[in-house]
Amino acid sequence: VLKKKIDEPKGMILRHKEFKDDTYKLANATLLSLVRNKELDGILHAISQIEKNWNQRYHYPITFINEEKFTEEFKTKVTAAWSGPVYFELIPPEIWNKPSNINPAKEKKGIERLTSLGVQYAGMDSYHNMCRFNSGWFYRLEGLKKFKYYWRVEPDVDFFCRVDYDLFRFMEDNELTYGFTISLYDSPWTIETLWPTTLKFVSENPQYVHPNGAFKWLTENQQNPENTKNAQGYSTCHFWSNFEIGDMDFYRGEAYSKWFDSLEEAGGFYYERWGDAPVHSVGLGLFEDKSKIWWFRDIGYHHSPYVNSPNSDKCDDTPGYFSPEDVYDQNCLPNWIKFEM
Ligand code: GDP
Ligand code: MN
Repeated sequence: VLKKKIDEPKGMILRHKEFKDDTYKLANATLLSLVRNKELDGILHAISQIEKNWNQRYHYPITFINEEKFTEEFKTKVTAAWSGPVYFELIPPEIWNKPSNINPAKEKKGIERLTSLGVQYAGMDSYHNMCRFNSGWFYRLEGLKKFKYYWRVEPDVDFFCRVDYDLFRFMEDNELTYGFTISLYDSPWTIETLWPTTLKFVSENPQYVHPNGAFKWLTENQQNPENTKNAQGYSTCHFWSNFEIGDMDFYRGEAYSKWFDSLEEAGGFYYERWGDAPVHSVGLGLFEDKSKIWWFRDIGYHHSPYVNSPNSDKCDDTPGYFSPEDVYDQNCLPNWIKFEM
């Protein structure tokens, strides 16, 4: 645990809204939760903490999305727990379902391989759909087109520190593209061909690569060189995307869109189990200025089994046990700090 107390970011533009301020201008933003009806209790747990520790001052909207219709009970209860506008959006099947270019025989072989390697969720169709959707589709939904920034929220996570400033205005006013709390190494078997597929795209489209990208972070991994070898050159370090605050216009832009098309064509969301976390991370690391990527060290966040635990008087008791400050072999935050900050 770091001895130095963590407070609000220094040297950045911060907006603190008063509880009653009719002239305050919110950013163009929504919280966003892809969630299933059966996860109602878990999502209530998560959003109540965001309300208490942040949103009760701001009243930002939240958008719930699902490939199945939300029940009346789900809608009533989440609406009651949130102080801002609440939207519900049904994901069209042509966006959610496996695309037609996926070869079933190749897919079966790939899944068998991942299963034999012990990859979690390898044989679960819906998990592959979810990863692909979160990688390159959510920001194209009708209900999301009007928004620029999103903050992703999952069921059963904890936000256990009070944040007084406007996190969305923070992104906007400081011209940031993406913010994260935790960053981890991935299982290389889930993304064996993501990096070679990406290098092929980049060699054909070198103009998209940002000169100030996070190249070292994407490729250096002294802690676990086997990962880099098995992922064919990618360190597997990624921003853990179950928490992320991002600018959807980055994904909507030409570089990310064209690159994502090439990923779809390669089919790794189904032949392997490409996750939205490594996909967002590789896209950001290559096509965005790394100075626009922000580690929110002051946001207390827990998604089992990891936690970002600020040493701050604004936090409740820390849930969970692993902290990025501890030496733990999955944690690659030190690489980000060392190479790119
Ligand atoms: P993990 O964190 O990787 O173990 O995966 P989760 O089970 O937490 O899934 C990630 C996010 O996607 C969570 O917000 C889930 O609620 C959501 N999710 C996963 N699968 C589905 C699905 O089939 N349908 C819907 N609507 N949401 C899903
Ligand atoms: Mn989760």
